[in-house]
Amino acid sequence: ERLVSAEQSVEDQAIDAALRPKQLDDFIGQERVREQLSLVLHSALRRGRTPDHVLLSGGPGLGKTTLAMIIAAELGKPLRITSGPAIERAGDLAAVLSTLSEGEVLFLDEIHRMARPAEEMLYLAMEDFRVDVVVGKGPGATAIPLDIARFTLVGATTRAGMLPGPLRDRFGFTAHMDFYEPAELEVIVRRSAGLLGVRIDDEAAAEVAFRSRGTPRIANRLLRRVRDYAEVRADGRVTRELARAALKLYEVDEEGLDRLDRAVLRALLTKFGGGPVGLSTLAVSVGEEPETVEVVAEPFLVRQGLLARTARGRVATAAAWEHLGLTPPPSAGL
Ligand code: ATP
Repeated sequence: ERLVSAEQSVEDQAIDAALRPKQLDDFIGQERVREQLSLVLHSALRRGRTPDHVLLSGGPGLGKTTLAMIIAAELGKPLRITSGPAIERAGDLAAVLSTLSEGEVLFLDEIHRMARPAEEMLYLAMEDFRVDVVVGKGPGATAIPLDIARFTLVGATTRAGMLPGPLRDRFGFTAHMDFYEPAELEVIVRRSAGLLGVRIDDEAAAEVAFRSRGTPRIANRLLRRVRDYAEVRADGRVTRELARAALKLYEVDEEGLDRLDRAVLRALLTKFGGGPVGLSTLAVSVGEEPETVEVVAEPFLVRQGLLARTARGRVATAAAWEHLGLTPPPSAGL
């Protein structure tokens, strides 16, 4: 598993829970989302109504689950958690919906991966707080309408664009979660360090934050690795030098690139003169599957402005040459 992956690892599961902020006021960053959400929730509370359904869109590890938990807590209602892949049939969803209590918050993670027939059932539930339970099969089948409790759906997706229009339209509020700024991640690192009992200097927190690829989950993970290093090699206090040494050992560089990212970049520069080169050729040259390069390494390299995808293939930018300390040949056209 990659240290800089935004996906939740087994180790993260327990720690994520311990580090989650519990109220909107403790949620760091995402200023606009926080303010918008605060209005939605407080106006609903004031009117004594359940708020509109909320769609959270954004990459893994940016705090969607955390926000869903906060929404339930702010409303003082229970939270039910399920996910798109867990809903294989409409019946799976009916079982969840029909057992919700009044005002309950239903968190549906990876909502874009829900089975199609369940989607239609969800439309009706979101709009009319009703499910049609189909009894029998074939021509004799009948739909029996069943009223369900008024609930608030919090849907999460990494790709809002992949949701069918009718589903997207039924959310009263969509929050787009962006990557975090280093300054925000620094606050998150300091807060997490406090909760984990780690002594960390401000400059060290900044160092960890800067390499965390804009993602709180990665920041929290790097913090734990840096802590390990400081405990074993020093007295436990994380200084900037210790943080740097630890991250060097774990092969996470100043911009948060890891070994795979750098291998791809280096191959592109040294073997193909900076490109353009096709994805498969590039992948073979680093001994990886094309999919790994495309899904695991490239998105971050593109985001950092180090690599561009063009119709003719992958191309390195001037920043890529600079990052690896290499001089581009005139043929690179930079
Ligand atoms: P996934 O899509 O993989 O489920 P997610 O978007 O739901 O990820 P969370 O599980 O909510 O992400 O957050 C990951 C970790 O990052 C948690 O430990 C949480 O404490 C921390 N975190 C996320 N956002 C914030 C924030 N704004 N302030 C403080 N900590 C945060």
